[in-house]
Formats: sequence, C-alpha cells, structure tokens
Amino acid sequence: MSKSLANYYQHAYACDHKNFNQCFYCGCEATKRDHCPPLHMLQSIVDLGEEADFVSIAACYECHALLHNERLMSIDERFTKLKKKLSSKYAKALRVYSMWEESELSEMSDEFAHSIQAGMKLGKEAAERLAFTGFSYATEEARVTVREKTKEFDVEGMTFTDFKEALNYCINTLKVQKSDFYKILVEDYNGDFNKALSQYHHRHDKVTAAKDGNTLIKDFSKQYKQNSDFVTRTVKHFISKDPSLTTEGALEKLYNNYIKK
Ligand SMILES: [Zn+2]
Repeated sequence: MSKSLANYYQHAYACDHKNFNQCFYCGCEATKRDHCPPLHMLQSIVDLGEEADFVSIAACYECHALLHNERLMSIDERFTKLKKKLSSKYAKALRVYSMWEESELSEMSDEFAHSIQAGMKLGKEAAERLAFTGFSYATEEARVTVREKTKEFDVEGMTFTDFKEALNYCINTLKVQKSDFYKILVEDYNGDFNKALSQYHHRHDKVTAAKDGNTLIKDFSKQYKQNSDFVTRTVKHFISKDPSLTTEGALEKLYNNYIKK
C-alpha cells in the first residue's frame, strides 16, 4: 500500500479523556485501530470512487477482528454490525445472564451452579459491551461527531436503561413467560420490547382462540349431529393443509364438503 493511500484516513480522537484507550465499539481496552473502510479494501474503494468515512478509530482486538473483513463505509454501519456480531457470538451467555438470578444458584448442585455462574459472568460482560454507546470523537479536520447518550429500552411507555431490568419488568409485572418471550425478543425482534410484546400477545391469543375452537367444535357437532372426534380430526386435517384457516373456516369447509346436501 502506498503512503498516499494510508493518508486517506483521518485519525479519530475521543473528545473526552475518560474514553482515551477505549474501544469505540465496545468500551474494552483498545489495542488496535479500526479503519473505516478496511485498509485492505481501500484500493478498490478508491478505484471505484465509492463514498466512505475514511476514518480510523480505536478498537479492541476482538472488535477489530470482527470488523476486519466488513466492507462497510461508515462508522455508524460498522458500529451496528459489530453489535450484531457480538450478540450472536455471545448469544448463549447472554441468554444465561438474562434468564438466571444469582439467588437461584443456591438451590443447585455445585457443578451446575458453577457453570451457570461462569455463563452469567461472560453474559454480563457481553451485555455491557453491547450497551456501550461509543463516544464523541474529533478528527484532524476538527469535525466533531457527537454520539447519542445511553441506549434506552421502551417497554409500553416505561423507559429502562438496562436490558435485563426491562426484561425482568416484562416477566414480573407483565407476566410473560420467561424463555418464550426471550426467544421472541432476541431472535425475532432484535431487542425491540414493544414489537416482541405484541408478537407474544398475538401468539398467546392464538392459544386462547384454539381453546374457543373446542367449544366451536362441540357446538357444531351437536348442531349437525356429528361425532365430535370426527369433527376435531377433520378440522385439524384442514388446518394442517391450510394453516391460514381458522377453526370457523375449517368447520365451514367441513359443512360444505360433508354435511350440506
Ligand atoms: Zn471492542
């Protein structure tokens, strides 16, 4: 790489001394610099005349490695990508950290308690790195990029700054089922509590609707003098063939196919 190419990058400095030597992406100790876009891709990016931030910023060993091959042109995109990669890399530990409380460990065998404890410790560390919001930085051109304040989690209008606290609120106050909800929240909705809650309720209501379905089947069987096992089996069969069908829809189909003359 020629010197002129390396000169494409502005050196970014943390504005506040408390952030000196901190990784911009996760807050750990910085030992590397992340080049945005990566140095080894620079030639082609310049040749193609692509737009990019052309900034280098302090990063820890792990974040540097995770971003090394990401052809992302802005610090913001790299920031978002890094958080995604960290959450999938530590998904297991994050889950353990979110699901367990220290107070529960005393009831377990030592061996199990130790392994949960280790997972919780790793998960807590990962959660802190994920929550790190970066810092305001300046480049030689004296452009200052101000970073947002702490990440906040909105749960139906309540604001939390800690993910686990927000989760515990859902479990203890909104009475969602721990592991079901966690799965929806993290795997399907990337930590968006309100979307996850609405999906959770939607699924839960489906279960309730299925119970009402039994009443529908009973009433239907009575009304048309059909064996209720036959009606249940047929309804299940129709729904398995067409999952968009409701119990009502399946009963209508049964009526049209087998009862109506
Ligand atoms: Zn880092």
